[in-house]
Amino acid sequence: MGRTLIPDARSPLPVMTDPLRVAVVGAGPAGFYACEHLLAEAPGAVEVSLIDRLPTPFGLVRSGVAPDHQSIKGVTRVYDRIAADPRVTFHGNVEHGRDLRHDDLLAYFHAVIYCVGCRSFRHLGIPGEALPGRASAGDFVGWYNAHPDQRTRRFDLSGERAVVVGVGNVALDVARMLLTPAEVLATTDMADHALAALAQSNIREVTLLGLRGPAQVAFTLPELKEFAARDDIDIVIDPQDMKEDATLGPDASRGREQVVALLNELAVRPERGCDRRLVIRFMVSPVAFTGDDRVREVEVAHTELQHNADGVVVARPTGSREMLPADLVLTAIGYRGSALPGVPFDPIRGVIPNDRGRVIDPVSGKARPREYVAGWIKRGPSGVIGTNKPDAYETVDALLHDMQVHPPDPVLGGDVFARLLQERCGDVVSYAGWERINAAEIARGESAGRPRDKFSDIDDMIEVAEA
Ligand code: NAP
Repeated sequence: MGRTLIPDARSPLPVMTDPLRVAVVGAGPAGFYACEHLLAEAPGAVEVSLIDRLPTPFGLVRSGVAPDHQSIKGVTRVYDRIAADPRVTFHGNVEHGRDLRHDDLLAYFHAVIYCVGCRSFRHLGIPGEALPGRASAGDFVGWYNAHPDQRTRRFDLSGERAVVVGVGNVALDVARMLLTPAEVLATTDMADHALAALAQSNIREVTLLGLRGPAQVAFTLPELKEFAARDDIDIVIDPQDMKEDATLGPDASRGREQVVALLNELAVRPERGCDRRLVIRFMVSPVAFTGDDRVREVEVAHTELQHNADGVVVARPTGSREMLPADLVLTAIGYRGSALPGVPFDPIRGVIPNDRGRVIDPVSGKARPREYVAGWIKRGPSGVIGTNKPDAYETVDALLHDMQVHPPDPVLGGDVFARLLQERCGDVVSYAGWERINAAEIARGESAGRPRDKFSDIDDMIEVAEA
């Protein structure tokens, strides 16, 4: 199975005539955008195997985007069109490390693009983090979104006060889910187990803790506006916190100016006596979670803001401390990538080391041939869904360039790979299988007026996919 190279009139480089075979590992937004660009830009024939450890595609669009943000999930229509291309084959329920090794992929494909996202969560590393009642916001998100990894998690919602560490969009998402009445959530595609638990929830106040000031929040204007528009939730901000704000600086974006302006408005807006409250605190840094059998309080150090040598606004402790009561603590301080067997990993940044998508060998500092990354595992957990498009395109451009400059040796190919998967992991879910899961979820939700009623158990998904 050799590769024929013929000259291309438009380019001094040869063009491959045999299919270029690429494995894309991870069927989230970055994986789909990588497929899209390969289909559009490969100079010759191309075959893409899109592999995911779950039977369902779409990554965080399915298991990260909040259930009350259905319109954002409409992007999956674009992904459906990409998957419908006959040059793309979806292999769901196939896990790298369990069913496949890195070497297998290199034997069967000319190139591999890892788009596996960030599977774990950052930790504060402070005393009491392991106490019951403290969890990562990402686990809570996976739980309410029916992710199979979190389906058996339990969150004690019997107390009234939750504290969320961090002021990013995930912090706002989890706060909104905790403060939204159950009857409203029941119209979404939230997991049944989460709907049942939140219907019994006593949480009435959520306090977000910002390490730095209002000008440094990570959440964005539409998400804050959405909260501000709620007439069933009071938003409480100490006006004093707004006065101590660090300057925005001359290069502050318009979005950031508008966020600060809205926070200023909210700080002086009179409370309306709502029975649910969102409190936003600034310049507080958790130093310990305390409690006997479970978390009861968060000890915070007050901070002040300074510019460091690089001009970045940083928080420095002032020496004063405060105890905040908490019945539930969720830390929303960012996701983190996990190492894949056989693939380099940067344990400090939690990403696969790379240069614009080319995987870099940490010892030699050189690009590893035929290995690429895209999405959060390439750049870290930042940006919105659309950010993954230029990110994945950059990676695919690098791959196509490399394939033309250094045409790779022959590989075993897609048909043989499909046979390998059947031997190693019997229950491979095709895109048609996923479409059966999708149809069943939509049908289950219809009678209750919900967009879908999700499966969270992999065995249930496989049963439907194979029906
Ligand atoms: P994020 O945007 O990076 O926010 C993390 C927050 O944690 C920041 O406020 C950060 O504060 C804080 N933090 C980090 N270390 C801390 C520490 N040691 N102590 C106290 N606070 C600490 O992460 P995210 O909220 O997980 O979101 C991830 C990405 O997904 C973001 O790009 C986000 O916009 C996106 N997302 C978007 C949506 C949406 O569009 N609706 C929804 C969810 C997520 P400092 O900056 O001061 O360190």
